[in-house]
Amino acid sequence: MKNLTKVLILIFVMVFASAGCKGNTNKQGHYDPDEQYAVFMRSRGFAQTLNGILYFAERKGNRNLIYVDLDSGESMPLCARPECLHNDDKCDAYLNYFESPELMIWNKRIFWINFGNELYSMRLDGTDRRFEKRLDKELFVNDKFGLTVIKNGRLYSCSTIGSIKNGEPISICTVYSEPISGNGSSEIIYRGEASWMYTTGTISEDSLFFTIQKKESDVYHIELYTFSLETGKTDLLYEWSSAESYQDLSKENDTIRMSGKRGWINYEIGKRELTEYKIPGAENDSYCILDNDRCVRSTSTTTFSCFLYNGALLYEGRIKTDGVDLEKNGRSPLGFYNGKVLYYLSNWEEGEADSIISVDPLNGEAKVLWRGENGGN
Ligand SMILES: [Zn+2]
Repeated sequence: MKNLTKVLILIFVMVFASAGCKGNTNKQGHYDPDEQYAVFMRSRGFAQTLNGILYFAERKGNRNLIYVDLDSGESMPLCARPECLHNDDKCDAYLNYFESPELMIWNKRIFWINFGNELYSMRLDGTDRRFEKRLDKELFVNDKFGLTVIKNGRLYSCSTIGSIKNGEPISICTVYSEPISGNGSSEIIYRGEASWMYTTGTISEDSLFFTIQKKESDVYHIELYTFSLETGKTDLLYEWSSAESYQDLSKENDTIRMSGKRGWINYEIGKRELTEYKIPGAENDSYCILDNDRCVRSTSTTTFSCFLYNGALLYEGRIKTDGVDLEKNGRSPLGFYNGKVLYYLSNWEEGEADSIISVDPLNGEAKVLWRGENGGN
């Protein structure tokens, strides 16, 4: 209880002290401390606060929203109820889900969407839980590989869903927004279908950037769009063909980046110039994890490499873990955090704990930031 109070105080200090600080950019998104909007490894349902991570976990059979303080390594259900055992639906941290819902943070609240497309929210301390609304059933698709964010009171979504047309499989991509409260109408930004297509995006101060990627005879035709949140105007910025598709769209200043399995792309918005970098010999299934000025890429269970965006290699070698056997863990990147790469390690052995490690991309030195309780987290 004492620890939780400490953590909650820390969250509030972070929220209020952070106004005016420059946020950092993560693998799959953008962090704006003034709005407390954060996306952190969305496909696993992690959200980032200034020095902590929120995620959904089954812990001793209970399904709770967990807060991990990355400075102290402490973790706990996001619940401030006195004497709560965090094991029933009276607990603030309880979410009745079997897998991670996507977590979004906006305007000092945590938002999530259940499988009935219902949007809920609560304060960052777990109190004041609210049902916000049922999202547009024609347009909203819970697609963890797309984008779902809240900005200026509207939900923006880029999603892909599979369907059948004339007996053939097709993909349908939808980019749209709708208000998170009230009865305001949805606005379609892009909607299209093809035999194989995919969309993902990112949001910045005043624009939504998204790509539409269509595959035809092993070639990907990629279109990069921008949609102005202010004017509602959509512009095609660039289109090109590539041997591979890209994911994890991010924007830093005037540059848009996307991660591929064999490299990355840089797009200079002002110059309307695109550069596609290929890492020599890169063939495996590991996507690059992008930071402001460098990226890293797994090369095996225990090794990785780190590059500057001009292609210069900064490090290639082993992750020097501190007592964690990487061979016994699934390693999922969470993104960059204060210049270090964070990985979530899921331990495959019965009764062993999961952990979060940070790795220095310049020398492979790793540190355990948090270790879950034995027997499931
Ligand atoms: Zn509780």
